[in-house]
Amino acid sequence: MIDTIGYAAMQPSKPLIPYSFKRRSLLKNDVLIDIQYCGICHSDVHQVRNEWGSSTFPLVPGHEIVGIVVQTGDNVTKFKVGDRVGVGNFVNSCRECKPCMKGLEQYCVKGAIWTYNAIEWENGKSSPTQGGYSNKIVVNEKYVLAVPGNLPLAASAPLLCAGITLYSPLMHWNAGPEMKLAIIGLGGIGHIGVKIAHALGADVTVLSHSSNKQDEAIRMGADNFHSISDPNTFKKLRGNFDLIINTASIEIDLNKYLKMLNLDGTMVIVGLPQNKMQFNAYSITNARRSIAGSVIGGIEETQEMLSFCNDRNISCDIELVPIQQVNVAYDRIVSSDVRYRFVIDVLNSLEHEN
Ligand SMILES: [Zn+2]
Ligand SMILES: [Zn+2]
Repeated sequence: MIDTIGYAAMQPSKPLIPYSFKRRSLLKNDVLIDIQYCGICHSDVHQVRNEWGSSTFPLVPGHEIVGIVVQTGDNVTKFKVGDRVGVGNFVNSCRECKPCMKGLEQYCVKGAIWTYNAIEWENGKSSPTQGGYSNKIVVNEKYVLAVPGNLPLAASAPLLCAGITLYSPLMHWNAGPEMKLAIIGLGGIGHIGVKIAHALGADVTVLSHSSNKQDEAIRMGADNFHSISDPNTFKKLRGNFDLIINTASIEIDLNKYLKMLNLDGTMVIVGLPQNKMQFNAYSITNARRSIAGSVIGGIEETQEMLSFCNDRNISCDIELVPIQQVNVAYDRIVSSDVRYRFVIDVLNSLEHEN
């Protein structure tokens, strides 16, 4: 077994504290990664606070992991010691179902094995998965991503969740020069979505509560910016968009936003609010609109997204924080006080725990 140190929540809503645990010894297809950086996703906060009701403790969060391969199992062919790599939202899947066979492991019918707060089975033994707020992780090479050369390591960590969360629906709904696209929310997910959508050539509008983010939205590549605190925005933009992607993780009035879609327009939900959202049937029937959902992307598409970002010099705007500041960072995320993603300086700050 491999001794690992990190930060864990020991019970719901309690601050994360230092925690020692063991990773499995390397199996033939595993790589051992020394974690350098890990992004803080809003879903980490939801799960530490057990807001989705499915958390088990102790819980080491973190699924935006980047680091260096330091050891490989006997049968590993994809990676060698010294490679820059990443691990995203899941570390395994059944590999047999239709979605898995199509490279859509995130929709595995038996359930993808999430990077933390899940149970994994190896050699008939089950153990809880633990995430990237820790100094090491052992993952089957099939579920590990190569981080291409030009990408700065810390600023590419959030691509592994926030980046692919937007890249995948932008690809699926064919975002490109002919498309009028709106992104609701300019947070961790939204800001990287703007950069990717702009690179794809779409006409990008940011819809945000914070009108003080306008200049930054334009800098990131947005063509338009509208404040959703202004009721006129909803009148002005009626029937305006082909695609709206909702990154908000709080409930919104769907009817107001659906009316901004034109004929055959689609609203894609990627944010995960705690409570139900409702809409009127006529909000979709009167212009053949659709409401859809999307969650992250498969391994192949995530690798494609990393290459895309590498080729176009796209990475995330981050605030690097020591792991000892994680609880403060959580409170700031909840009050939307982050530009635009926290990344934990895992390697440097965990050294002080020894
Ligand atoms: Zn995430
Ligand atoms: Zn499967």
